Amino acid sequence: MSIPILLLIFIYGVDTIQVMRTRNLFVPGKPFTLSRSKLELFLSCPRCFYLDRRLGIGQVQGPAFTLNSAVDALLKNEFDIYRRNKEPHPLMIQYAIDGYPYVHEDLDTWRNNFMGVRYTDPKTQLTISGAIDDVWIDSNDELHVVDYKATSTQAELTLDAPYRDAYKRQMEIYQWLLRNNGFSVSSVGYFVYANGRKNEDLFNGRLEFDVEILSYEGDDRWVDTAVQEAHACLSSDTLPDPHPACEWCAYRKEAAHYETT
Ligand code: SF4
Repeated sequence: MSIPILLLIFIYGVDTIQVMRTRNLFVPGKPFTLSRSKLELFLSCPRCFYLDRRLGIGQVQGPAFTLNSAVDALLKNEFDIYRRNKEPHPLMIQYAIDGYPYVHEDLDTWRNNFMGVRYTDPKTQLTISGAIDDVWIDSNDELHVVDYKATSTQAELTLDAPYRDAYKRQMEIYQWLLRNNGFSVSSVGYFVYANGRKNEDLFNGRLEFDVEILSYEGDDRWVDTAVQEAHACLSSDTLPDPHPACEWCAYRKEAAHYETT
């Protein structure tokens, strides 16, 4: 046993190092709540999704993105100032975006990671939840979903890279959730991107950002089907195949081979 594991056991106790959980598991025929990120997990690998939500074996968690969370919190605080006054944020004016940050009594619930915007699909009794960053309203009373992102790159910010497809799906699920809650939602959403500058001469305890807005026209028509397929996956008694291009599964298989022989 390696020293770091001994150290972890000393700090947290043996019980903490437990991969399998017994709570929050899907039981066929029973209503179940699925977060947006778990629906995304289903789309990227049904097997990992099944292991997690049906069998209680979740992926190993990486460290929290605390700097990104700090940027999110600061952007929320800043947009809330303009929300109180029902005024457009200067960035919205700069990008000629009609409207202002939306005022709604449930906004805090919609933004809460443990609550979010929720909708129960009547066919499957799956409740889908998603915590949004922000919503803006335009002069036609249509809502626009807004997501804050933080990065640090010298490349041009774009949504075109394949790994950005998950961001687009995220936006579309939020649009789907709000529409199913009876709101009139524009297909145009916005990503507010904070891009940390790396080329300053001095740090001085400050990280400076350039903030840009990228608009995205979403299409949520795929979401109903995805929810039904995720439900069918969970209801099955068969473990789905692994994703053929997944490094983790290849690693697990190789390691298990040598560990068991
Ligand atoms: S293929 Fe990857 S994502 Fe899927 S079950 Fe294996 S480790 Fe998980």
